[in-house]
Amino acid sequence: MPVEPPNDVLAHHQQVEHDLRRKAETAQLLLDAARYLGETLEIERVYDRFHELLADAIQHDGVVVSSFDERESLIRCEYAWVEGEHVDPATLPELKLSTAGGMQSEVIRTGRPLLENDVGGRVAGDEGGTFYDVDREGTVRKLPDTGPTHVQAAMMVPIKDEGRVVGVVQLMSDERTYTEDDLELVEGLVGLMAGAVRMARLETERRRAEASEAAAKAVAAEREQEARLFKAVGDGIFYVRREGVVRFWNRSAELITGLSSEDVLDRAAAEVVPGWAAIAEQVAVTEDDSVPRVARVPVEVGGRELWLSFVAVGRPEGVVYAFRDMTAERELEQAKSDFIATVSHELRTPMTAVYGAARTLLRPELDLSSEQRTELLEMIATQSERLAQITEEVLLASRLDRGEVTVERDRVDVGELARGTVDAMQPHLGAEVTLDAPQSAFATGDRDRIQQILINLLDNAAKFSPRGGGITVSVSQDADHVRLAVADQGVGIAPSEQQAIFEKFYRVDPHLTETPGGTGLGLYICGELAGRMEGKIAVESEPGRGSTFVLELPRSRTAE
Ligand code: ADP
Repeated sequence: MPVEPPNDVLAHHQQVEHDLRRKAETAQLLLDAARYLGETLEIERVYDRFHELLADAIQHDGVVVSSFDERESLIRCEYAWVEGEHVDPATLPELKLSTAGGMQSEVIRTGRPLLENDVGGRVAGDEGGTFYDVDREGTVRKLPDTGPTHVQAAMMVPIKDEGRVVGVVQLMSDERTYTEDDLELVEGLVGLMAGAVRMARLETERRRAEASEAAAKAVAAEREQEARLFKAVGDGIFYVRREGVVRFWNRSAELITGLSSEDVLDRAAAEVVPGWAAIAEQVAVTEDDSVPRVARVPVEVGGRELWLSFVAVGRPEGVVYAFRDMTAERELEQAKSDFIATVSHELRTPMTAVYGAARTLLRPELDLSSEQRTELLEMIATQSERLAQITEEVLLASRLDRGEVTVERDRVDVGELARGTVDAMQPHLGAEVTLDAPQSAFATGDRDRIQQILINLLDNAAKFSPRGGGITVSVSQDADHVRLAVADQGVGIAPSEQQAIFEKFYRVDPHLTETPGGTGLGLYICGELAGRMEGKIAVESEPGRGSTFVLELPRSRTAE
């Protein structure tokens, strides 16, 4: 017959069984809660679910979840539900962590939960426990200052993150008291909720980081495109910050000034930008949306004077400058105005002579001898020829510019052409011309144009030999080329001018060389014509000793 266990043993067993069941139930509840909370990554939904779970597990009339900001020592409400109503946490005031009394503050300070089954008694008691009570309208009352509370019991559980208290959950009941078991359960749920909130925060952060990375990438791409654009534009662009330091220097700025961005960036503009003082003084900075004003400033770069046209636009942090090299345009403008002055002068001289001679011939009272008449008529003839020549040069230069001049590709015997031309020109040149040419030297080109070049070179040789001296015309050839050279013993040309004399309208100052003027078009025309025949023209000269101009043409390939 089985022995009945004694009563106290039975009671003990029942207690153990009850405890185990309760623990199992709690474990099951927490497991379900973990799953349920883990399903969302939205913080508000985590709070809602947390509250749903609480509602199922423990009777309460209010719950407030607060976060604690350690740096500012502030307690902020994150979620509140009171007597069946949600209260917007944003409407609740932030509370300063107090060093005495407050129950929330105590939990935060100690990191331990609090269970108070006589809230009214506690706040009224000697310890002076402060308690914040929230009603369904969201009105916060600080107890005991504002009178008695209807709250009976409260549980305060710390929310922890890696051991640090980051918030408090406050659970209140108006009608019942709470047990240690209740507190244990709430602690378990709060732990799970804290984990879910942390995950949700990380997710929010991740999304925010992703969004800001995307935004940063978009800005970077835009910047890159802008930078590429700024790099590619033909205008020099640079940016000077308010404190005077250069922060941007594009490729064109490098090309125009010859200064690399490494030389300039992060340095004071006044130190590194050529002519900065003049630029800053003369270029007006446009601050609003109006059209920027252009200022032309001469700037000395690498020993050369450049004319740069600047505009400047103000930015909040500095000024963006854009500039363009207008040197060529300016030189052309200069040359044009020089040309007008020159041509007018050049035309006036022969015209005055023709006019004077004609008037003299027409005066009936003057009894002119026939030699005198012939002399005057000859003067009219030469000066008219000079007038025609100038007009011809101007017209030809403009036709060359417009691409209207074509040249023949004939087989031309340059030796023979030189002989004929020298014979014809000799009487008019007033200088002794020596010819050194083989019987024949065949080039490919345009006979008339080659002759025109030779006449021009002979004219110049005589014109720029004011103290006389012989002229030598020589023709030579090698496997590929035929060369026609005209050498004089005249004033010569300074090395710095030897390139420029082939430019349109370019003339060495006649006052310096004491030589007659001209239009500055002759050598330009010669160079252009030579180029069109696939040849070239060059000069070698020593000032004071003479010059040698050489026209080089391709040698004719057809049978000789
Ligand atoms: P122009 O003779 O009408 O002035 P060119 O184009 O023929 O124009 O010549 C340009 C300049 O080159 C001249 O003004 C002169 O200064 C220089 N030049 C040309 N040929 C000679 C030369 N044989 N000796 C010295 N200087 C010359």
